[in-house]
Amino acid sequence: MRKAIEREEFVLYYQPQIDIESGRVVGMEALIRWIHPEKGLVPPFQFIPVAEETGLIAPIGEWVIYEACRQNKAWQKAGVEGLKVAVNLSGRQFTDRQLLEKIATVLEQTELDPVYLELEITESTIMQDIESTITVLEKLAGMGLGLAIDDFGTGYSSLSYLKRFPINKLKIDKSFIDDVIVSDDDATIVAAIIGLSHNLKLNVICEGVEDSEQLHWLQENRCNEIQGYYFSKPLPADEFEAFVRERNKL
Ligand code: C2E
Ligand code: MG
Ligand code: MG
Repeated sequence: MRKAIEREEFVLYYQPQIDIESGRVVGMEALIRWIHPEKGLVPPFQFIPVAEETGLIAPIGEWVIYEACRQNKAWQKAGVEGLKVAVNLSGRQFTDRQLLEKIATVLEQTELDPVYLELEITESTIMQDIESTITVLEKLAGMGLGLAIDDFGTGYSSLSYLKRFPINKLKIDKSFIDDVIVSDDDATIVAAIIGLSHNLKLNVICEGVEDSEQLHWLQENRCNEIQGYYFSKPLPADEFEAFVRERNKL
């Protein structure tokens, strides 16, 4: 894995994020893949945890931020404009003292306007050390970036802290969307998170939307954005660009 960066074996796939009212693509989540010379395409759950343990997540994560910003800027120059790219930050990256400096450097190098970059931090990471979380989030927000809480509902959010975090978006975990049609409990939870988001003036996105029933339920319940196989799986950059051009009629 140590050599994989220089050998250029990592690639980013992009999964569209769709505005539920207009049906337009408004952003994309960058998701890493390792194209291993022998094993082929390796999904992130098979190497991100190891990268976290060994510290290799630092250079890999830096590459991800750079590549996502570079690609978004390239798309903007090619007329695919106004899209926000969401990048996942691991716990170890979030507590890295050099995080802000690294991000500032990438934004300078790629000339991407910070409003087109969003960082996804999981609920469990964000709740680990509340006071230092607030400090870091405030600095990131001060740079003009978007901030989203990933896998929301799976951790133990202290709701009173939620309003102290300078975040823009809650991303409801796929596990709740899976059963939103068949489970009254999950439907209640999702509806409550959507209501909470609106009251706190946060954007709310659901991940893992796989069928039209789920989509219609989320439309009726006023979710803002959706991401899932129903619209598209994560795609290589060229296929993602074609998808956006078609869908947004560019
Ligand atoms: P995540 O951030 O929660 O990403 C969503 C995962 O759900 C992605 O899996 C995506 O492909 C999958 N997904 C999206 N829609 C659907 C759907 O409708 N049905 C199903 N069954 N799955 C769906 P992926 O790409 O395998 O990534 C898994 C996790 O790996 C991510 O979860 C994230 O935590 C981590 N990850 C991916 N890329 C990066 C990265 O660049 N850096 C870090 N630190 N973590 C990453
Ligand atoms: Mg994510
Ligand atoms: Mg997630």
